[in-house]
Amino acid sequence: MIKFSNVTKKYGDKVAVDGLSFNVEEGEFFVLVGPSGCGKTTTLKMINRLIPLTSGYIYFKDKPLSDYNINKMRFDIGYVLQQIALFPHMTVRDNIAQVPMMLGWDKKRINDRVESLLEMVGLEGKQYMNRYPDELSGGQKQRIGVCRALAADPPVILMDEPFSALDPISRESLQQDLLDLQAKIKKTIIFVTHDMDEAMKLADRICILKNGAIEQIGTPDELVNQPASEFVRQFIGTKHSIHTAKDIMVPVELKEDINNYGSKSNEYMVVNINEPLDHLLKHLTNNEKIFVVNDEEQLVGYVTTSSMIEFLAQNGLNGGGKS
Ligand code: ADP
Ligand code: MG
Repeated sequence: MIKFSNVTKKYGDKVAVDGLSFNVEEGEFFVLVGPSGCGKTTTLKMINRLIPLTSGYIYFKDKPLSDYNINKMRFDIGYVLQQIALFPHMTVRDNIAQVPMMLGWDKKRINDRVESLLEMVGLEGKQYMNRYPDELSGGQKQRIGVCRALAADPPVILMDEPFSALDPISRESLQQDLLDLQAKIKKTIIFVTHDMDEAMKLADRICILKNGAIEQIGTPDELVNQPASEFVRQFIGTKHSIHTAKDIMVPVELKEDINNYGSKSNEYMVVNINEPLDHLLKHLTNNEKIFVVNDEEQLVGYVTTSSMIEFLAQNGLNGGGKS
């Protein structure tokens, strides 16, 4: 649906986006995540042609973006901003109906649409339609922002940190509502956030950016179980369970101090029980056996190539799919 081919954006000498290539499938919930300044907003704005590319191509339905009429194309792409950006002097109805009004829909069609959108995001249509933004909570305003992006039923929705200004409770509830909504409407959504937990919760696939370049693309499970780099691992954090030596080792009963284990401990590699799976995979190529110790340096088990293979087989190989 949307394809990036070697897209670079420079502001003067500063490279903001560095040779991005990826594909977003129709109906996919694709999340761009990364620390502040890594190029997320720039990437999103290039899709909407708010910012021109320095080089490369972005394709929308197999045609370069530049082949489309820019004004018409913006009607095909809804945009939800980070800041709550409603017109304060307009009613909720008029805020939501911006694009339908530009498209010349008649009043009845607009009112019906606004009402059904409000209901979709859990707000009673007739009651909220005629309110002003001042009369709404932060969470409700951002729901109106989502309605506005959906108003003319565009196939693609871009969302730039839409929930980051909200308190944790409103944020959680809007995340859940967005998931429920997406299950019904099946749009192609490109969602930007710096919050990995939010990305994990929402995404079909996540693209992790660092300094304007892709660090890794994958499903939440793939990122957790096969992080491509230390950066990815750290960004995911320890909250998300990743498979470690503890899950893979053959346990041993005797908990003796590894330092008393005799000369063999020099021949074999020793790792902590929390050593992640992919590290073990690497080490196993050079070691037939890896000893596993707890934080007290007591021997608690060992990992061999065959225990690893058995573990991978039971967990759907490649370590994917948490059981
Ligand atoms: P993010 O959304 O991930 O925080 P941005 O896409 O906003 O990152 O910015 C990426 C980089 O480009 C940053 O280093 C930022 O300072 C720089 N940048 C963004 N917009 C401009 C601009 N208009 N002029 C110059 N530099 C910019
Ligand atoms: Mg940004």
